[in-house]
Amino acid sequence: MIKHELPSYLQQQSQGPWEVYLEQIDRVTPHLGSLARWIETLKRPKRILIVDVPIERDDGSIAHFEGYRVQHNTSRGPGKGGVRFHQDVSLSEVMALSAWMTVKNAAVNVPYGGAKGGIRVDPRQLSKAELQRMTRRYTSEINIIIGPTKDIPAPDVNTNEEIMAWMMDTYSMNQGSTASGVVTGKPISLGGSLGRQEATGRGVFVIGSECAVRKGLDPNRLRIAIQGFGNVGGVAARLFAESGARVVAIQDHATTIVDEGGLDVAAALEHARRTGSLAGFPGCAHLAKQDEFWDIDCDLLIPAALEQQINAANAGRIKAAIVLEGANGPTTPGADDILADRGILVVPDVIANAGGVTVSYFEWVQDFSSFFWTEEEINARLTRIMRDALASVWQIAEDRGVSLRTAAFIVGCTRVLQAREMRGLYP
Ligand code: GLU
Repeated sequence: MIKHELPSYLQQQSQGPWEVYLEQIDRVTPHLGSLARWIETLKRPKRILIVDVPIERDDGSIAHFEGYRVQHNTSRGPGKGGVRFHQDVSLSEVMALSAWMTVKNAAVNVPYGGAKGGIRVDPRQLSKAELQRMTRRYTSEINIIIGPTKDIPAPDVNTNEEIMAWMMDTYSMNQGSTASGVVTGKPISLGGSLGRQEATGRGVFVIGSECAVRKGLDPNRLRIAIQGFGNVGGVAARLFAESGARVVAIQDHATTIVDEGGLDVAAALEHARRTGSLAGFPGCAHLAKQDEFWDIDCDLLIPAALEQQINAANAGRIKAAIVLEGANGPTTPGADDILADRGILVVPDVIANAGGVTVSYFEWVQDFSSFFWTEEEINARLTRIMRDALASVWQIAEDRGVSLRTAAFIVGCTRVLQAREMRGLYP
């Protein structure tokens, strides 16, 4: 008998990101009072859609990819969250990412539930035409559950405004009319918002600067180390460098560049844009091993790549005052404990990287009203929302003697479960 390879969602996945999320929920539950009665709501995604995404390759062969869209919760509004294209996308990962969107959207109080999508594919192996066919087929397959008032996708790892344009077009062609509000992170000319592309990195910068001040660090003398040089790490690096901070290390998928005197971030961005990575970037040292990144002496360490990067194995080596989570889920609960014991402040993803979805919300509002705001208005509103969210989470952390993550989960989960309770169970 031929042995068939099972799809990844039927293979056993231990300790995936979903288990990390469940542990975070267990840690917040004792702080939720009578709302804890509803906690199971947060441990079960509302709806999971797994789709087959077949495409014809340029050489005439047929390829199949696993696609996902998970709507974790819609108690406070439509599902909202990005779509990721990555070879390691799994059901556990998309479930966790959708749940973190629920908590994040509630923590910064934008009127959404949480959702996330993804395709298990290495997009670098596809031509542009293949990428477009895959995106369109995926959008058609999830068309039954998305929509401007149902669930609104956006960019995430390896997806961008061009892919959002194809998603918007595919959905609109199926509907028979242009529906710009079905996705956010679109090109400006298709109803995108000024400031959206850099919003996540800008939010990381705003929250990082504010936390540095709150920790008594001089914002003009900060030393920053960043893992990830995409749309989050790249923008955060640029804004910190422009503010006078020193970016002393940047790691991407190919290499880690270091310079204690401060890297030339603008030149590094240009090099990465031109060549596809930081490999061969001149004028600074390159670490011999990627793992040595965790030993770098800095004030702010910004993981801005993938999940579970900071874990029990490396948390003891980190030499930073603050870990600022640009990525979703970069720190495991075990690492959270080690960092807390060592007096290192962890600023959780659900606050630190919420700038992206906050400006997605502005984009969606602008699309509905067909009235567009200036970049100054957008950045000012973004900064205010981020600072206010941090201030209330900080206060709760102090009052209750809990970590910023647990405090952010207290705020987010309370809002979600209050909505759940007020709405009541149907039928
Ligand atoms: N993918 C981003 C995130 O993880 C943004 C999601 C959105 O704008 O909907 O928060």
